Amino acid sequence: MSIKVIIAGFKGKMGQAAYKMVTEDPDLDLVALYDPFAPEEQVAGVQVFKSKEDLKGLTADVWVDFTTPAVAYENTRFALEQGYAPVVGTTGFTSEEITELTELSRAKSLGGLIAPNFALGAVLLMQFAAQAAKYFPNVEIIELHHDQKKDAPSGTAVKTAELISQVRTSQEQGAPDETESLAGARGANFDGMHIHSVRLPGLVAHQEVIFGSQGEGLTLRHDSYDRVSFMTGVNLAIKKVVEGSELVYGLEHLL
Ligand code: NAP
Repeated sequence: MSIKVIIAGFKGKMGQAAYKMVTEDPDLDLVALYDPFAPEEQVAGVQVFKSKEDLKGLTADVWVDFTTPAVAYENTRFALEQGYAPVVGTTGFTSEEITELTELSRAKSLGGLIAPNFALGAVLLMQFAAQAAKYFPNVEIIELHHDQKKDAPSGTAVKTAELISQVRTSQEQGAPDETESLAGARGANFDGMHIHSVRLPGLVAHQEVIFGSQGEGLTLRHDSYDRVSFMTGVNLAIKKVVEGSELVYGLEHLL
């Protein structure tokens, strides 16, 4: 039996890559598209919904979401309430929102995933960074994205910092008396480590995690050159969440 999928944000850069992946996989059945701003009524025979109200009652298994941080929480909540297992790549969730959505998924006995990064290499980078941070507590994160990205820092950078802070002894980095002559020069402060966000046309999604110690340095880097890099993870997630009974945060929980 094929898995019935809805794609929210299908006109966006990630939504288009997800559309291609879902329609090319014979095990997946695209049953609806959602975008409040789309002018078309249907795409290749698949209905385009402009309002979540109209989607109510539609039979589907999985809600794939690549929309915008402002609506990601309410979309994911809606999906769970309708009985659709969410596979969410949209970034910008707070940890309170993730906790709430996880509780709702348990109450509904539905699987789901919120993944700040679906690229397998990025998931590995986060794990390697957490490993290295045990020995190298001085670390800075530089995330680099295309200049249309709406939120900063990236969800991947925040998740990387969270994983590192679970193993790193909390400490303020840099000189105790350092000052910024230009506000923001030292980046965002997460538990004493600094995150820097670069936005440039031509980039897709990239991250460096730089560790420094006495007389040595270690740099980990991952590059998504093309949005196709995320689709192996999205495909895997769609097939896994239908068997799950709670929402998880991070693709590593489904690997
Ligand atoms: P994008 O090209 O701007 O696409 C977002 C799409 O969502 C647009 O078509 C937008 O329509 C639509 N949209 C806006 N408001 C909406 C609403 N209320 N409901 C449904 N759709 C709505 O952005 P993108 O590059 O595809 O990225 C989408 C999200 O995925 C971002 O949060 C990004 O950070 C994230 N992302 C995640 C991963 C990952 O691996 N997890 C990788 C890359 C990106 P309009 O253009 O008409 O506003």
